[in-house]
Amino acid sequence: MKISIKDITSLPDQSKKFSGTCDVQEFSYLGSSFSINHIEPFDVVLSMIGTGKLHIAFSTKATIVGACDRCLSEVSFEVPVVADETVQVSEGQVVTDDDIGPYPFVDGEEIDVDELILNEILVNFPAKILCQDDCKGICPVCGKNRNIVDCGCDDTVLDPRMAQFLDVFNSVKEVK
Ligand SMILES: [Zn+2]
Ligand SMILES: [Zn+2]
Repeated sequence: MKISIKDITSLPDQSKKFSGTCDVQEFSYLGSSFSINHIEPFDVVLSMIGTGKLHIAFSTKATIVGACDRCLSEVSFEVPVVADETVQVSEGQVVTDDDIGPYPFVDGEEIDVDELILNEILVNFPAKILCQDDCKGICPVCGKNRNIVDCGCDDTVLDPRMAQFLDVFNSVKEVK
């Protein structure tokens, strides 16, 4: 959703509450696609600090669905979404910060709530997405999901340098 800041910026020290929505359904992160399945109901509060500053705040939780990093099965997880931004405003417009450039969540006279949500999701994204802490992953030999079947394949993958060393070791043994 986008919220116009036109009204609030003419009301010094006042706040306005808006019932928040998220219009983003899909996004990609580090080459994988995810979907936002659910977002807890939340309010977006815009507050003027004096006449020159606008504070944007909301807090919710998003339920994300994606693939397990190891076995690729579908995983659902929650990510906190807490937006807390203060921007300078002048004549109903957000003033671009000279140091950091235009705000990605500002679109003309509107605050782009979706952009803020997405940003918070990415900031709080889990480092690893696993269906379970001890997910056994997919067998590199037969491609089966090892959480479901114990295929029993020998998947001892050797470091090529180690393999070379073993070759030498074995040939030395043969000589003896
Ligand atoms: Zn898994
Ligand atoms: Zn296997």
